[in-house]
Amino acid sequence: TKHVPFSSPFLRAAGYINGVWTSGDATTTFDVLNPATGELLASLPDMGAAETRTAIDAAYTAQPAWAARPAKERSAILRKWFDLMVANADELAAILTAEMGKPFAEARGEILYAAAYIEWYAEEAKRIYGETIPAPSDDKRMIVIKQPVGVVGTITPWNFPAAMITRKIAPALAVGCTVVSKPAEQTPLTAIALAVLAEQAGLPSGVFNVIVGTDGPAIGRELCGNEKVRKISFTGSTEVGRILMRQCADQIKKVSLELGGNAPFIVFDDADLDAAVEGAIASKYRNAGQTCVCANRLYVQSNVYDAFAAKLAAKVAEMSVGDGFKAGVVIGPLIDEQGLAKVEEHVSDALAKGARVLTGGKRIDGAGTFFAPTVLTGVARGMKVAREETFGPVAPLFRFETVDDVIAQANDTEFGLAAYFFAGDLKKVWRVAEALEYGMIGINTGLMSSETAPFGGIKQSGLGREGSRHGADDYLEMKYLCIGGV
Ligand code: ADP
Repeated sequence: TKHVPFSSPFLRAAGYINGVWTSGDATTTFDVLNPATGELLASLPDMGAAETRTAIDAAYTAQPAWAARPAKERSAILRKWFDLMVANADELAAILTAEMGKPFAEARGEILYAAAYIEWYAEEAKRIYGETIPAPSDDKRMIVIKQPVGVVGTITPWNFPAAMITRKIAPALAVGCTVVSKPAEQTPLTAIALAVLAEQAGLPSGVFNVIVGTDGPAIGRELCGNEKVRKISFTGSTEVGRILMRQCADQIKKVSLELGGNAPFIVFDDADLDAAVEGAIASKYRNAGQTCVCANRLYVQSNVYDAFAAKLAAKVAEMSVGDGFKAGVVIGPLIDEQGLAKVEEHVSDALAKGARVLTGGKRIDGAGTFFAPTVLTGVARGMKVAREETFGPVAPLFRFETVDDVIAQANDTEFGLAAYFFAGDLKKVWRVAEALEYGMIGINTGLMSSETAPFGGIKQSGLGREGSRHGADDYLEMKYLCIGGV
């Protein structure tokens, strides 16, 4: 690897604890690489359990005063943070593309999307209403108030280095919680930049802390095991979500989990096929297929199967793949060799079991972890692409005959995050939407995420919701007050 000094006013080679940029007691460093080039972007202190404990102490100490600030003041600080993110969107997007690989335009979109959560919860902060309940007897009065849960630990993945963090910390901070945040080891620079701007916005010391390090399990054990932490909010794999939930069981610690998906994308024969192709491109190939709501299994009704496959393959073959900083590029690299190996394995397994490649199908030679955007036909149930999240730019097309048949197949998974379908008939639209066992359904659209809507899954895709007014509830306790002798 070659060292490219990546300079930005928003970077620090440190973690952020109690308002101080620090290495803590870390004696070693870890490297952050650009997945498009393999170049070294930065070396950061490899912080672990000890630094996490210090950050938790800081968050714990800072929490009562932060919660005591009038909501309007917390709101104003968050609003300022939002404004700073928007004003510096290009700079933040450049950091994001460099460490994660997604095309610059998409990275800029993520920065604005991430900022929108801060804007939204800056507004919601002022609207955390309680309740009065008509009492069953005349001598009592009954009231419900909402209070922050306390210190929150967040653990987030690399695929949305900005948005996965703001979705959690914006509602948490808005309602008066304080946070210890651990970004993914592949993409800590965006998190650092967010903290630099938070500091400029006037967030008090200790309210938002960032731990950078490679030992996720050690940091996670401290966050889950430390009694000062009242809640864990995690986005990542179902496998790690299960570990964290187990570790939180001892203290009955609250958890919000946004885990894996295996999204079905269904095209019925009365759909607008061109719209369905556009939807499939948006849902499948965004972020090079590396989102938990990416279409993973595409089911196409028999009599439009060939037409849909041909139209999709024609569009996919035209997609420009490369370094996210190059103009016109829509597909960047996969995050690392491991991510690429999984995609290769899914494709070779499908081909060995009888699938055919319409376009793409292989790794692109040279530097960086690029995989050609791919469309597979003749895909069947026994293949890996049917059961596991591929997390890459591969669209496997399954053929189906009837509505009942496709609903049964679509629901035949332990996951329940996002599903999509394209159809014309209104009755079918309602029936299918109700029958799909998913937390979010895109109907005649391939894009549905928004800070205004509740994002989250059912079954083994998670617990809780992020975004919308419901997203604040995950960071609030309900307290019932009963006044007697009135
Ligand atoms: P991905 O496949 O997106 O990398 P992971 O679930 O492995 O998904 O990682 C998501 C986040 O969880 C990352 O920040 C990673 O460092 C962290 N992580 C991984 N293993 C553990 C663990 N055992 N405990 C706590 N955090 C972990």
